[in-house]
Amino acid sequence: MLTIVMPMTMVTAGCTKVARCVSTQTDLLSTRSWRIGSITKTSKKPSVSKLVEKAATDLQRLVRLKAADAVGFCECVSCGARNHFTKMDGGHFFSRTHLRFKLYEENIHPQCKRCNMMMSDAKVHERYRCYMIDMYGEKRVLAMHRLLNWSKPKFKRDAVLELRKDIKRQIKELEERYE
Ligand SMILES: [Zn+2]
Repeated sequence: MLTIVMPMTMVTAGCTKVARCVSTQTDLLSTRSWRIGSITKTSKKPSVSKLVEKAATDLQRLVRLKAADAVGFCECVSCGARNHFTKMDGGHFFSRTHLRFKLYEENIHPQCKRCNMMMSDAKVHERYRCYMIDMYGEKRVLAMHRLLNWSKPKFKRDAVLELRKDIKRQIKELEERYE
C-alpha cells in the first residue's frame, strides 16, 4: 500500500475513469483511500500542528468578519485605518509564537498590514494594548499576561477539529451578510 497526500479534487479531476474515492468518510480531514487500477492509495491524516495552523487562519478571518460593518469594512485596532476585511490582517496582541494565544480569540483583532508587521514598534504595540484594556479591562489583560508563563498547551486533534468546525460555521453565517 502506498501512502500519499492528495486532495480528492485532484484525483477526481484528473483521473475520473481510473480513480475513485473508496472511503465513506465525509470529512476532508479524515484518512481516505483511493483505488487507482489495482493500487490502493491512502492519504495521511494531517498532523495536529497542521490542523492548528488551519484553525488559526480561519480564526483570523472570523475576527475580521466579526468586526466588519455592513459593507465589510473594519478598523485597525492600532491606527484606526479602515479597509475591507479581506485586506486586513488578524493581528495578535501576544505573538502567535506563543502557541496558547494562537487559537485565543480575545488575542486577535483586525490590524492593517503595516501595523501588524510593526508590532515590535513600541507605539504600535502600546496602541494595541490600550485597545485591549478598553475592550476587556486591565485585569483581564494582566491575566492573559500571566498565561505566558504557563507551559505550552497540548492541543487534542478532536478538540481542534471541533473548534475549526465551529469557526467555519460562524464564518459562513457572517459571510452570508455580503451575498
Ligand atoms: Zn494600522
